[in-house]
Amino acid sequence: MSCIHLGKLADERICTINKFGGKPTEANCMECKDYDGPSRGVGDTVKNVINKATGGKIKPCGGCQKRREALNKMMGYKKKEE
Ligand code: SF4
Repeated sequence: MSCIHLGKLADERICTINKFGGKPTEANCMECKDYDGPSRGVGDTVKNVINKATGGKIKPCGGCQKRREALNKMMGYKKKEE
């Protein structure tokens, strides 16, 4: 997973927009609603399709975020081996 807000400082994960106290764990990032990067699972893909189809005119609500998290948990994409 590579969120655009994720950085590293002395081998420590840091969040450049200061979510989770600026030091998110990988689990924090998996559930973060501010994640911005390649799809982590089907939930992110659905969100991206809706965003693209509506030109970003529909803003996600609490239910949308719950659906996104649930689908990502149920059908997450596997990480590529490095
Ligand atoms: S997923 Fe969230 S906590 Fe993790 S780096 Fe991105 S914005 Fe920060």
